[in-house]
Amino acid sequence: MKIIETIKDMKFFVQQAKEKGLSIGLVPTMGSLHEGHLTLMRQAKKECDVVVVSIFVNPTQFGPNEDYGKYPRDLTGDSEQASKAGVEVIFHPQVQEMYPKGYNSFIEIDGITQKLCGLSRPGHFRGVATIVAKLLNIIQPDKAFFGQKDAQQVLVLQRMVSDLNMNVILEIVPIVRERDGLAMSSRNAFLSEEERGAALILYRSLQLAQQLVAKGELNVEKVKHQVIMNIQGEERAQIDYVEIHSYPLLENVDVIGEKALLALAVRIGNTRLIDNIILEG
Ligand code: AMP
Repeated sequence: MKIIETIKDMKFFVQQAKEKGLSIGLVPTMGSLHEGHLTLMRQAKKECDVVVVSIFVNPTQFGPNEDYGKYPRDLTGDSEQASKAGVEVIFHPQVQEMYPKGYNSFIEIDGITQKLCGLSRPGHFRGVATIVAKLLNIIQPDKAFFGQKDAQQVLVLQRMVSDLNMNVILEIVPIVRERDGLAMSSRNAFLSEEERGAALILYRSLQLAQQLVAKGELNVEKVKHQVIMNIQGEERAQIDYVEIHSYPLLENVDVIGEKALLALAVRIGNTRLIDNIILEG
């Protein structure tokens, strides 16, 4: 497995692969790899000849008071794991390589970015869309793989690819969870033992909502209220948002229709965690 650090070398690798007629799968990540990321890589390996994983903690998607500086970084451990998953290349550019002096171009997606994480993290999706567009341009993958863990991110990127006529297929992989239900996340590493226990409240609340819907409760306010009460019962948890929107359009709805997204962002101590489920009414 190769680690490539410059755009020039990455483009050269891509050109050679294309000349050989090989299909390319891209898995964009911020590193600190876990089983969720590895599942994306294995899926990419099944569907594409060559798998490129990008590892780049993208500064433009972090707000000024967020955890960019302390976001976990472990290139050595990541390389071992990616190599075992059959990855051919890790693309690991420095910030200066992706955003050189004078850099001034950003991609804005309207509408669906003006809710959920778009409200609590202003500028976040502008940063995500910009870095993903850059990676797609550099690596020109046939397919790019993303996790449903970041449900709104998937919708934003699908919008971008469709609106800007990009030549890539986005493949979405279901949420990978720990045995007890906690959604895998690089940020779980920040949790103390007690917080790790408290973090289960996210998954438990999603399950509670699913049970309510299964029993016929389709009123959005009532389901939200139960979920909020449940989370508030955990003293270490601080709600950022609990929202139910239609899926995939993310419209405001009063009743859970055919499909609705229940999305949570909850702070456990200083760590902000997100999780979601698609409710089927
Ligand atoms: P990140 O490194 O957190 O930016 O994540 C990189 C990619 O892995 C994104 O497409 C995420 O949605 C995906 N991902 C992260 N955690 C999980 C998970 N638990 N299950 C499925 N996909 C995930």
